[in-house]
Amino acid sequence: MALSIQKIVQILHAKWFGINDATIDNISIDSRSLQNGSQTLFFALVGPNNDAHVYISALIEKGVQNFVVTHIPENLENNANFLVVANTLDSLQLFAAYYRNLFDFPVIGLTGSNGKTIVKEWLNFLLSPDYNIIRSPKSYNSQVGVPLSIVAINEKHNLGIFEAGISTRNEMEKLETIIRPTIGILTNIGSAHDEGFTGIGEKIKEKLKLFQNAKILIYHKDKTIDAFIDSKLKTFSWSFKDEGADVFITKKLDFDQTLLKIRHQKTEFEIKIPFQDEASIENALQCMMALLYFSYDAKTIKDRIGLLFPVEMRLKLKNGINNTTLIDDSYSSDFQSLKIALDFLESQKQYKKKTLILSDIFQSGLSNEDLYSKVSHLIVSNKIDRVIGIGETISAFKNKFPNCVTFKNTESCIAAIHELNFSNETILIKGARTFHFEKIVAALEEKTHETVLEINLNAISHNLNFYKSKLKPATKMMAMVKAFGYGSGGFEIAKLLEHHKVDYLGVAFADEGISLKTAGIHLPIMVLNPENTSFSAIIQHQLEPEIYSMKGLNAFLKIAEQKKLNHFPIHIKLDTGMHRLGFEEENLEELIATLKENKLVTVKSILSHMATSDDLNHRDFALSQIDLFEKLSSKLMRELRIKPIRHILNTSGISNFPDAQYDMVRLGIGLYGVSNDVREQKYLENVGTLKSIISQIRTIDAEESVGYGRRFVADKTTKIATIPIGYADGISRHWGNGVGFVTINNQKATIVGSICMDMLMVDVSEINCNEGDQVIIFGESPTVIYMAEQLQTIPYEILTSISQRVKRMFYRE
Ligand SMILES: *Cc1c(COP(=O)(O)O)cnc(C)c1O
Repeated sequence: MALSIQKIVQILHAKWFGINDATIDNISIDSRSLQNGSQTLFFALVGPNNDAHVYISALIEKGVQNFVVTHIPENLENNANFLVVANTLDSLQLFAAYYRNLFDFPVIGLTGSNGKTIVKEWLNFLLSPDYNIIRSPKSYNSQVGVPLSIVAINEKHNLGIFEAGISTRNEMEKLETIIRPTIGILTNIGSAHDEGFTGIGEKIKEKLKLFQNAKILIYHKDKTIDAFIDSKLKTFSWSFKDEGADVFITKKLDFDQTLLKIRHQKTEFEIKIPFQDEASIENALQCMMALLYFSYDAKTIKDRIGLLFPVEMRLKLKNGINNTTLIDDSYSSDFQSLKIALDFLESQKQYKKKTLILSDIFQSGLSNEDLYSKVSHLIVSNKIDRVIGIGETISAFKNKFPNCVTFKNTESCIAAIHELNFSNETILIKGARTFHFEKIVAALEEKTHETVLEINLNAISHNLNFYKSKLKPATKMMAMVKAFGYGSGGFEIAKLLEHHKVDYLGVAFADEGISLKTAGIHLPIMVLNPENTSFSAIIQHQLEPEIYSMKGLNAFLKIAEQKKLNHFPIHIKLDTGMHRLGFEEENLEELIATLKENKLVTVKSILSHMATSDDLNHRDFALSQIDLFEKLSSKLMRELRIKPIRHILNTSGISNFPDAQYDMVRLGIGLYGVSNDVREQKYLENVGTLKSIISQIRTIDAEESVGYGRRFVADKTTKIATIPIGYADGISRHWGNGVGFVTINNQKATIVGSICMDMLMVDVSEINCNEGDQVIIFGESPTVIYMAEQLQTIPYEILTSISQRVKRMFYRE
C-alpha cells in the first residue's frame, strides 16, 4: 500500500487539518502496536466503552503522524495530520472498500455460524500450491477485523479468502461491500448468536447477503436453506440425501477416518478424510466443493484432502524453562499473523528481553528479497532482541536480522537448544506447520502436570466492557485482582486491565500488590487488608492502604512521620452494616480530628462494602447501607474539606443499584465471567476452563469397586477412566461419588467413588474415548456456577480453591 494522505482525504470525504504531506503504507487501530510509525494511518475507533482518541497524544510522541478522528483532541492541533470524519469505523470500512476495488482477482467469501475459520485455513492449505493467497488472519471476521484483513492485500496476490461474521441485522451488507466475494461458501448454520435475530430464517437471509454479487454459491443442500436463496444466484450444492444436488455424497466411517464417495456429473471418486466428527466432515466437504469448482481432478483432490489437519487458532502463553514465557503460535507463519503475534508479544511480555523463533515464511506473494526485508523491518520496529531463524530460505537472509542465529531445520535447533541459553526472556515461537515447532515448544516448556487452567483473555475484556457499559461516563473502575485474580492469574490479568485503562486495581494483601508492582504494573493499587507490619513495604512500593481503624491510622501516621511523607494516598473504609472492617459512626469525630490539617496523608477515597447487593430479598438493608454511606462520607468530606473518590458497589451492586455508583465501582467476580444473577449470566463469557487428560482406562466387572473405601460398586460391566486431578488441586471431595461429572469428547462422565488427593475416576462406559484424551473439569460444562450450586457454595470459592500447582495458561482467540 502506498497512498498519499490527500488521496485518503478524498476517499473518506474527510476534513483535513494537516501539517505535511505523507504517504501511508500501514493502517492501525491498536495503540499498543510497535508497528505504528510515521507512515501509519491510525483510525481512532470509538466503542461504547473505549475511545481510542485518548491514545493519540502518546502515539504522536512515538512518531505516529496521521490520524482519522471524530475530533482533534485538545492541544494537539498542528502536531500531526488529522482527518476529521463523522464516524471512524465507517471511515475504516469505506477505506477498505475502496482498497478492495483496486484489485481484481477471485475472492472466496465465507460465512455461517460455525466452521468459517477452519474452512478458510483448510482452503488456504489446499489451494496454496497454486495461488498466492491473501486470507483473513486468525478469526478476523468482524466489522473491524474484515477491513483490517482487506488492507493487507498486495499486488502479488491472486486469490483472496475472507470470512465474515455477524451478530445482528444489517451488518452483512457492510461486510459485503468490503469483501466483494466472487465465490461464496455458506458454512454450517447453527444456533450461535441467535439473540440478534428474530429467527433462523432471518439469520440465514442476513448471512446470504454476503453473496448478493457473487458468481456462485457453494452450500450444503440438506440444511433447508434453499427457500432463502435468491433465484438469480447460481449455486453449486452438495447433499447426502438429495440426488438432485450438484454433488451427491455417501459416507462411511472407517477406524479413525471417513470414506466419502463423491458423485459429480459423470465422474465418481472416493476420498478419505482423517476425521470422523460431523463438523469436520461438513467443513472438509465445503473445501472439496471449492476444489471441484476450481476444476481440480479427482486425484489431486484426494491427495490434498487426505492431508487435512486440526486447526489451532489461538496464541497460547506458557511458562518456559529458566524463567521464560513462551508464546506458542506454532501452526502458521504468514506475514499477517506474524504482525498479530508480535503485537501479542508486546502486550504480554513479562521479561524485557524478546526473542523470536521463526521459520521460513510461505506464500507471501512477494519475492524472498522483498519479503525478508519487510519481515526484518517488522522485527526491528518491534525491538526484538534476538532472532532464531529455522529453514533454508530464512537462513539465506540471516544478515537482515538483528542478533540472528539460524538452523537448517527444526531438529538441528532442538539439538542445540542448550547452547542457545534461554533465560529471563519472552519467546515467540512462530512457524509454518511443516516445521513442527510444537517440538520446540515441548522442549522449552516447563514440565508440569497435564492439568491446566486455561484463561481466555478476550473473555475478560468482554466482561469488563459489559460492566463498563452499565456505568455513567464519569464513573471510574477499580478491578479486583485479589487472591491471584480470583484464581485466574495475577500479572497477566493486571496487564490486560492496565491496557483497558481501568483506574485502580484492588488486592487483599500487600504482598499481592508488591508482586504486581515489581512485575511492572503501573496502575495505582489499593490494599484492602494491610497489616501494620506491611506498612513500610506498602510505602516503598507506592501501594495505597485501606485504613479501617484508628489503630491502623495511628500506626500508619507514625511511619509516615518517620519517612517524612507528603500527602501519601490512603483510603478510608466505613462500616455501614457489613460489620467486617471499617470506621463506624461513633469513630468519626476522632478520625476527623486526626486527619484535619494532616499533611502526611491524603484521603484518596472513601469506601464501604455491601453485605447483600446480590440478594433482592435484602434490598431494604442494602439501601440502608447506601444511605448510611452517604451520610458518613458526606460528613467526612464536609469537615475535612476534601473531595475524594467515593465507592461502595461490587459486581452485583453495579447491576442492582445503578444509582449508587458514586465516583467509582469495584468489579470482581463479573470480570471472571460469573454473575450472581441468572438473567445477566448470558451476557458474560466464560473465562476459565480447567482441563486434564485421561491417564488410564480399564473395564471392571459387575460387583467390582473403584477407589478408597469401595464407595462405588459396579452393577454391570463398566469402563472406568482415571484423571490426574484431585482434592489437592482444589476439587472438593463432595464433588465425587456420583455428584459431579466431567466432560470428555462432549459427553458427561460421572465421577465414581471418592475423589483422591491427586486423582479421580469417572464412568466412561458410554463414551468413545482413549487414554490421553482431553477432559474438561469445568468451563462451559459443567460451569463453576453449576458446581457451586451442587456443592452448596459459591463460584468464588471454587475459582479461588484451584491450587497454585495447576498451571495457568492464557490465550486470546
Ligand atoms: C472482593 C471485593 C469486591 C468485589 O466483589 P465482587 O462480588 O467479586 O464483585 C469489592 N469490594 C471489596 C471490599 C471486596 O473485598
